[in-house]
Amino acid sequence: MKIGLFGGTFDPVHPGHVHALVEAYIALGLDKIICIPAKQSPLKVDMPSSDHHRLKMLEYAVGNYDFIEIDTWEMSQKGVSYTYDTAVHLKTKYPNDTLYFLIGTDQYRSFEKWYRHDELLKMLSFVVMDRYSDSVVQDERFITISQPVLEISSTVIRQRIRNGTEVRHQLDPEVYQYIKENHLYEA
Ligand code: ATP
Repeated sequence: MKIGLFGGTFDPVHPGHVHALVEAYIALGLDKIICIPAKQSPLKVDMPSSDHHRLKMLEYAVGNYDFIEIDTWEMSQKGVSYTYDTAVHLKTKYPNDTLYFLIGTDQYRSFEKWYRHDELLKMLSFVVMDRYSDSVVQDERFITISQPVLEISSTVIRQRIRNGTEVRHQLDPEVYQYIKENHLYEA
């Protein structure tokens, strides 16, 4: 099988993520995609919302796609989530499948800071979901797929909620409802 892996904090998950995933699924002819919510990203300073909330929102956002799964392995581990450890785990779990790790352009730009990034590149095929209109990828070790990108960001969503600015249009309706009910990201 050809399996796409998609790691992130998903705090909260937004349609930019889902759009990117489904476009990658089509472009690469994948059999399935596994979303891997991080416990704590090594490169992010702020503590994320609880695992429980982030997982619930992810379930709402991708639950209707039969080719998308959620793997909670990183959340079940202690401390910072290094993709290197996850890659070791998944290579053992899926020894006979081809694994593609999907990243957005922001993660491509910070890739040199990733723990054991040179080894990671040998373990998995890294795919950058590059901008259709304005390509940023130069490094030939990465597979590049060109697709339209929805300019939505979790950071901006969190800031907007804190400031009381409208965000409903940038969220899946069920995720929006969940955020409201649980008073997430409010000041
Ligand atoms: P934050 O603003 O908190 O950094 P984020 O919106 O970038 O969050 P993450 O959960 O950190 O979301 O991202 C997970 C993955 O999704 C990363 O590979 C990131 O590059 C990618 N990504 C994030 N936003 C988009 C988007 N709008 N379109 C395509 N890919 C995206």
